Amino acid sequence: GAHVEPVASRDAFPLLAADPALHYLDSAATAQKPRVVLDALRDYYETANANPHRGAYRLSVAATEAYHAARARVARFVGLADADCLLFVRGTTEAMNLVTGSWGRANVGAGDEVVVTAMDHHATFVAWQQLARAQGATFRIAELTPDGRVDLEHLASLVNARTKVVAFPHVSNALGTVNPVREIVALVRERSNAVLVCDGAQGVPHLPVDFDRLGVDFYAFSGHKVGGPMGIGALLGRRALLEAMPPWQYGGDMIAVVGDQETTWNALPHKFEAGTPNVGDAVGLAAACDFLAGLGMDAVIAHERALVRLAMARLAEIEGLTVHGPAADQRSGVVSFSMADVHPHDLATILDERGVCIRAGHHCAQPLMRRLGVPATARASFWVYSDAGDVDALVDGLQAARRLFGA
Ligand code: PMP
Repeated sequence: GAHVEPVASRDAFPLLAADPALHYLDSAATAQKPRVVLDALRDYYETANANPHRGAYRLSVAATEAYHAARARVARFVGLADADCLLFVRGTTEAMNLVTGSWGRANVGAGDEVVVTAMDHHATFVAWQQLARAQGATFRIAELTPDGRVDLEHLASLVNARTKVVAFPHVSNALGTVNPVREIVALVRERSNAVLVCDGAQGVPHLPVDFDRLGVDFYAFSGHKVGGPMGIGALLGRRALLEAMPPWQYGGDMIAVVGDQETTWNALPHKFEAGTPNVGDAVGLAAACDFLAGLGMDAVIAHERALVRLAMARLAEIEGLTVHGPAADQRSGVVSFSMADVHPHDLATILDERGVCIRAGHHCAQPLMRRLGVPATARASFWVYSDAGDVDALVDGLQAARRLFGA
């Protein structure tokens, strides 16, 4: 068979090292954790744990410094020079709710237009749909080409002087489509003053991301998909927008002076980080970013594309199997497919018996599933530890399913 060597050894990932027979093909949902991340978490809690910002004692200062350094390391990894414009949040979902809840409520009104794409994850799609409804704005959806890319002509036709925001994914989680961010930015800027919001949940884990050069106004991602812990992620924003935005949650740390009747707000990033921050997970996320920087994101995406090419060629040989989405060179490491007469959930169950983990469902993209004309798809997704053996196990399992369902 073909050889596609992983960019990181399975030995660097304790869960994978413990079970050589496991074929984990659900990294787009959440990635396995490198040992360096688990070590960083343990080290933080064993040596520097205290509530930051509040204490004058040395341990609290250590926690404050660990948090500050984590922000700087994560910001550097995603190409953001002004690290105070990186807000730690729970993940992409919370980031998107922060943008709609703060910027959206303050800036979108009746008669305005909000544009998303038909491939957006529910985190983006529903957040903007509901914001538009609440504010009396018109909600518009950019449609897709038959091979699952954003139809740029249709998108351009939706953008005009009334467009207040255009939200889109850097990479589709359901199809793997990598969107041409700079082209989208250019066409939106030509036609409007809209704010551009990019859902980077599937961007940062798979591609080099340089926020300061992408041209978008907001960019969100989740730590758990880059090998960091669950419960931490980031929203990046332009300073002028973040400074003009009202607070989103109230509480400790985010205030400057609390009067009896009025309160003033702390500087960035604290204005948007109410309450005790998630220092440990920020430290873990920073360790994940350092780990990926060491591998090189160009190597990561090249590796994923090699696996996708291999998988698409092998899947094409299976009777009755349809792969959704664009050509391999326009994807991250995602292959979404349907097998005639077999429900994706049945495929996932049969594969699970062989130690192959795939996802079956609507992938939090029901508007996309409607357009594909399917209720659900099966999805295999690759990351740095995936290899040709994982593809072999997937293909063998699917062939077994084909035999079982008798076609
Ligand atoms: N957007 C995309 C493209 C995603 O893949 C995901 C996670 N499936 C999200 C948003 C939501 O991320 P989270 O659940 O980590 O908040």
